[in-house]
Amino acid sequence: MSFHLFSSNHVIDIPKGKKTNEVFDPFTYEPKCVYVPITDNNRQYLDKVLRINDVVKKGKVIGREKVTNFPYYSPISGRIKEIVEMPFSDFTFRECYKIENDYLSEWDLESELTNPDSYSRGDIYNFIKNSGIVERDSNFKPIYKLFEPEFNIHTLIINAIEYNPYLGVENLFTANNIDYIYYVIPFLKRLSGINRFIICINPSQKVLESKIIASKKSYNDISFEIKKVDDAYPSFNSRNLVRNFSKERYNLVPQEIGYSVISLFSLEMLGRFLFEGKRPDLFCYDLVGEVKNPTFVIAPFGILASNIVNIIGQGTTYNEDNLLYLESDPISGLPHSNLNYILFPSSKGIIVTNKYKKKVYSCINCGRCIDVCPSDLIPVKIYKCSKKNSIKKLEKLDINKCSGCGNCSYVCPSNLELTSTCVNAKLKLKD
Ligand code: SF4
Ligand code: SF4
Repeated sequence: MSFHLFSSNHVIDIPKGKKTNEVFDPFTYEPKCVYVPITDNNRQYLDKVLRINDVVKKGKVIGREKVTNFPYYSPISGRIKEIVEMPFSDFTFRECYKIENDYLSEWDLESELTNPDSYSRGDIYNFIKNSGIVERDSNFKPIYKLFEPEFNIHTLIINAIEYNPYLGVENLFTANNIDYIYYVIPFLKRLSGINRFIICINPSQKVLESKIIASKKSYNDISFEIKKVDDAYPSFNSRNLVRNFSKERYNLVPQEIGYSVISLFSLEMLGRFLFEGKRPDLFCYDLVGEVKNPTFVIAPFGILASNIVNIIGQGTTYNEDNLLYLESDPISGLPHSNLNYILFPSSKGIIVTNKYKKKVYSCINCGRCIDVCPSDLIPVKIYKCSKKNSIKKLEKLDINKCSGCGNCSYVCPSNLELTSTCVNAKLKLKD
C-alpha cells in the first residue's frame, strides 16, 4: 500500500504485513556530546540553573520551565562546553547547551520514594513533575499532565502496542524493564484513585506478553489486566485505544471521561525514577527502511540523527535525491531531506525511504476515511469543502477535533492529501 506523506508531496510504500522483530540485539551508541535545549517548547528561555563550563552528571537538571518548573536535564555526564543553535525535527532551531561526554557515567540522583501512604497526593504529583519524563507517544507532552488533579481518573491504559508498520522495537526494550511498573502502580493509585490498570498489547507481541506474564507471578498483590487489542492502522493514538473500553466521547483529552493513556516506556521510566532516583538516560531508536542492516540503537537523547545513520547504517547507498528520512513514524513523522536534526525523547527512530512522485486519483466515495477517523469526522467532506474554500461549511464540520493522526490519508485508495488538508483547514479556521 502506498500513501502520501503528511506535509509533503511525496508518496512512500508501506510493506504488506508488519515485520515484528522478536530478537532484541541493539547497538549501543555513546556520543561525544549531546545538545539539550535551553528554551521550552514555546521558545521561552528556561530558568537556567547551570552555566558554561559547569560539570554535569547524568540526570542533572540544567534548567526549568519558568511557569511550570518542569525540568530539562542532561542524559550524560560531562561538561557544558558552549551554547549553540541546533536544528530540531520540527524544522525549528533552538539554542542548546552542548554537553561534552566525560564517559564517566556518573549519576545525579534524586531521592527515591518508598511507602506511597507516607506521601500526600501533592507530593506524588510534584515528584512525577520533577521526573522530567515526557510521554513517548507524543510531541513532548510531560507525563505529569496525564495525572492533573482536577480529573477523576479511574482507568489507566498502558499502551504497549506496536502501532506502525516499521517501528516496534521499543516494546522489546521495554520488555526488559517491565518490573518497574510494579513500583509505580501503588503511587498512581494513591495519587489519582485509579482502580483499573490495563496493559494493551497486540496479539503478535509474544515476547512482551510472556515477559509480562512471567513477572506478574512475583507481584501477586498488584493487579492489572493484559488486553490484546488489534492494530488499528498505523497510528494507534489515544482516541483509538480508549474506544476499546468506553463508548463515551471526549473532546480533547481522555481524562475528561476518566481515562488516561500512557506508553509502557514512560511508565517504566517513572517506576525507575521513583525507586532509583534516575531520570531516563537511554532511549531506543530504530533505524529501518532502505538501510543495509536495519537495527535498533540504544542512545541518549540530544544526539544528531546523522550520528546514528553514519555509524550504524554503513553500507547504505545514500542518495539524497531519492531518499527521505522520516522522523519517528511514517504517518505523523515529518519527512526530512537530510539527517541534520536532534533526536529527542519523543523520537522513535529514523525510517529511510525511497520517494517518488505521487499519483492522485479522484475520490471514489468509498467512505474508508470516515470509517477510520478516531475523531468521528468526515475527512472527505472536509477535503472537498477546503478545496472549494467553503469556510461556512467547514465551520460546521467539527474540524478542531482533528488530531492529524494520518489514518484518513493512509487508507485513501485515491492518495488524496486528506490529513494535511484537514490540519491546514483547522489552522485556517483558528486564525
Ligand atoms: S480527519 Fe484528522 S483525526 Fe480524522 S483521520 Fe484524518 S487526520 Fe485523523
Ligand atoms: S477514502 Fe479517499 S476515496 Fe474514499 S471517500 Fe475518503 S477521500 Fe474519497
